[in-house]
Amino acid sequence: MRPADALDRIVYLLDRVLAEGQKVRAFARARDVVEATGDDEIARLHAAGKLTDLAGIGPTTARVIAEALDGDVPSYLAQLEGETVIDPGEGADLRAALRGDCHTHSTWSDGGAPIEKMARTAIALGHEYMVLTDHSPRLTVAHGLNEQRLRLQLEEVRRLNGELAPFRILTGIEVDILEDGALDQTEEMLAQLDVVVASVHSKLRMERREMTRRMVTAVASPHVDILGHCTGRKLVGRGRPPSTFDAEIVFAACAQFDTALEINCRPERQDPPDELLTLALDWDLRFAVDTDAHAPGQMEWQAYGCDKAARHGVDPDRIVNTMAADDLVAWAAGHA
Ligand SMILES: [Zn+2]
Ligand SMILES: [Zn+2]
Repeated sequence: MRPADALDRIVYLLDRVLAEGQKVRAFARARDVVEATGDDEIARLHAAGKLTDLAGIGPTTARVIAEALDGDVPSYLAQLEGETVIDPGEGADLRAALRGDCHTHSTWSDGGAPIEKMARTAIALGHEYMVLTDHSPRLTVAHGLNEQRLRLQLEEVRRLNGELAPFRILTGIEVDILEDGALDQTEEMLAQLDVVVASVHSKLRMERREMTRRMVTAVASPHVDILGHCTGRKLVGRGRPPSTFDAEIVFAACAQFDTALEINCRPERQDPPDELLTLALDWDLRFAVDTDAHAPGQMEWQAYGCDKAARHGVDPDRIVNTMAADDLVAWAAGHA
C-alpha cells in the first residue's frame, strides 16, 4: 500500500465518523506532504528512521507511513475500517434505490475535496450522479461563488463530465435564502442550473412570522427545487436550536409548488426533526435524501437519512433522488 493512499483512506474514514477537524487536517496534511515528497524519498527517510524530520509528519502519521512501506495494512487504518462502518439500520433497501446525491460541496466553496474526488467517491458508492451544490456569494465564510466563479465551475463540470461518463455531475447550487426570501444568485444563473437547493444560513433566530414569509417566498420561487436543512438546528458542540416558523404554511407551499423537502443526513443536523418529517408526510411532499457532504467520507451518510425515511414510512417514489438523472433534471426544469 502506498503511504499516501493509506493516509488518504484514513482521512476518508475519519470524515465518515465526523472526527474532529484538527485530527482530519493533520492526516490530510501528512498525505499532502507525502505526495509532495515522492515515494522514493519517503522510502529513503523511512530506512534512515527520519520520517518525522518532515514538517507535518508526527509520530502517529510516521507509524502509518512506516507500516504501509513495510507491506502491512497500517494498524490505525485497520482499526478505523472496522470502527467507522455505518449501520444502514432500516434504510438498506432505500439506500440501494437511491441513484445520486443532490447536496454536495467541493473546495470551490467550503468543502474539503476537489469536485473530481467527490465525484469519484460517488461513483465508488454506486451513484449514477451527484448534484454539485456549492454555496452562494453572500456566504463569505464558506467562500460562496459569485456569478463569475459559478460560470467557471460550470466549465469545469463540463470538462469533468467528459472524463467521468456515464457518471454525471449535475450542476447546482446551495443558494442562500436572504432575509426577504430572495435568492442569493442571479436569475440567469439559477435558470441554467440543473438542480437548486435553497437554504437559510443567516438570521436563523428571525421572528416566526418573518421566517415563515421568508421560507415560503423561497419555496415559491420557480428556481428552487429542494428546501435544504429547513430548521437549521445543530445537535453537536454548542448546538443550535431549530428556527421557528409555521411548518404547516411552509409545507403547504412545498406541496403547492412541488418543492422537495430535504432530509439532511448530516449527523449533527438530522434535519427535519422527527415531528416535522411526520407533518411533511401529511402534506405528501417530495423529499431528497441528501448528505450535504463537505468531504468524500461524508457521502456515506445517506445511510442515516435512509434509515430515518424508512422508519417514517416515506415512499421511495416520493424521494427525488431515486429518479434517474434525466428524470430528476426534467422534474427540476418543470419548476422554472
Ligand atoms: Zn447549508
Ligand atoms: Zn450544504
